[in-house]
Amino acid sequence: MNREEILESIRTRSEPWDVVVIGGGATGAGCALDAASRGLSVLLLEQADFGKGTSSRSTKLIHGGVRYLEQGNVSLVREALAERKLLLDIAADFVSPQPFIVPCFKRSEKLYYAAGLKIYDALSGKRSLGRTDTLTAKETIEALPGLDPEGLAGGVRYLDAQFDDARFLFAIVSTAEEKGAFALNYAKVEKIEPGTPVRLSFRDEPGSELFEVDARAVINAAGIFADQVESLATGEPPSRIAYSQGIHLVFDPEFLPGPNALMIPKTSDGRVLFAIPWLGQLLIGTTDTPVDEPKLEPSAIEGEIDFVLGTCRGYFRRAPVREDIRSVFAGIRPLVRRARDRGTSRISREHLVDVTSEGMVSVRGGKWTTYRTMAKDAVDSALEAAGLPARTCLTEKIEIRDRARERADTLASGDPVLAEPVVPGFPYRKAEVVDAVRSGMALKLEDVLARRTRLLFLDARKSIEAAGPAAELMGDELGWSDERKEQEINEFRSVAQNYVPDGRRDHS
Ligand SMILES: Cc1cc2nc3c(=O)[nH]c(=O)nc-3n(C[C@H](O)[C@H](O)[C@H](O)COP(=O)(O)OP(=O)(O)OC[C@H]3O[C@@H](n4cnc5c(N)ncnc54)[C@H](O)[C@@H]3O)c2cc1C
Repeated sequence: MNREEILESIRTRSEPWDVVVIGGGATGAGCALDAASRGLSVLLLEQADFGKGTSSRSTKLIHGGVRYLEQGNVSLVREALAERKLLLDIAADFVSPQPFIVPCFKRSEKLYYAAGLKIYDALSGKRSLGRTDTLTAKETIEALPGLDPEGLAGGVRYLDAQFDDARFLFAIVSTAEEKGAFALNYAKVEKIEPGTPVRLSFRDEPGSELFEVDARAVINAAGIFADQVESLATGEPPSRIAYSQGIHLVFDPEFLPGPNALMIPKTSDGRVLFAIPWLGQLLIGTTDTPVDEPKLEPSAIEGEIDFVLGTCRGYFRRAPVREDIRSVFAGIRPLVRRARDRGTSRISREHLVDVTSEGMVSVRGGKWTTYRTMAKDAVDSALEAAGLPARTCLTEKIEIRDRARERADTLASGDPVLAEPVVPGFPYRKAEVVDAVRSGMALKLEDVLARRTRLLFLDARKSIEAAGPAAELMGDELGWSDERKEQEINEFRSVAQNYVPDGRRDHS
């Protein structure tokens, strides 16, 4: 169904929706899939593009979280490890095992991390991805040739899983659509009147039209904006979310060649830092910086960049420097605040679901890895809030396939021009751009260059080079005039500046 058909069904609908979900990130898309597959009528509304928020800005790990184990949060780790195995099964097109190596500089360190990572593995029980091994110094260097060998006592190798967050998100949205959900991007919820049913107003950005819809239950899955959405219904300024920013830097893979990722277990501020091969590049992050407010396009702070580069200097044979950065991106974690929490890195990554006004359930916190269980809990609560009978969650058994890749393969095999790369050196063909418009709900150049392909995240300057050719392809599909193409390119450039290391950025 295309956008106009979806809007027309909304205009002509007389019945309330069983569930309206606010927020097209991992949590909201998961809720839409969960509710639609239980046979409910579902409308998903996203104010920008799907994944524009935190869900395209993660470390790209489907993991139990070694750090949470060290913090003693065994139940979160166990739940996440079970989800990791399930996602490897039901989303094999997206999620794959990734080996990690922890370098150790003392024998005692090696014993400590080996014991901890064996417990991590044991918590996954029958769902283990493979044995945790200890390595000699020589084996560690063979496995991680980019590592500085000085003082190395050995290493510990363990397995976790990796994915492409934004592309997986689109697949969840389109699987939800296959199950009957209606999903709209660029549809911002502006007003919520609690009641039975709940009445919502949202604005369709492309047509500037205001729509009113009724819902038996509303799920607020607005991530870092969940407090603001809750306020639309209550009129009060709640403050349940603490905002914690994390950044990633992307480099040439030559700084850490090979298939293995590096895990630095304790940075100077007590965090872990990962250097991970991702889509042919090297992704390094992340930080944990408390910030005051949610932002749709957050910017890395100079101090965060210095921190990541500084930490790398102690571990790499040839440490990357600022000039080597291909892209820098920031994301904000929506952490659930509790009275006793001090400092955002200590706040639990667990999620919270509660009924925040009549007919509205808010789901907050959590992590990508547990989006499916968050959705299950939120939909269970929404059914209760709506006075609807309980229905069993089915998402454990629903396969999520990379249909976008399959469609692009078909397009490329039928037209040699569409088989050409959008920009040399990256795995994206012109077919991906065309498919993103025809079937992937892409409306802006940024939607294609940041999320349907990941060029902006992989190499910001190359993505600016790709803007012209991509605008031509999108323009042909969407009937853009030359002025409109120019405007799209300029808008994309101004977003992309935020990802170029010497672009405009907060220097505080
Ligand atoms: C730096 C960093 C690294 C991370 N790494 C990992 C990792 O490796 N593994 C992992 O499991 N987790 C990771 N996480 C956590 C994970 O990314 C988040 O928990 C998850 O993406 C949150 O998804 P969400 O759907 O709740 O929020 P979001 O993705 O932010 O989605 C919320 C959406 O709601 C929309 N919205 C807001 N207001 C409205 C409105 N009025 N109307 C309509 N729509 C609205 C927003 O535009 C947004 O798109 C990381 C987080 C960060 C910041």
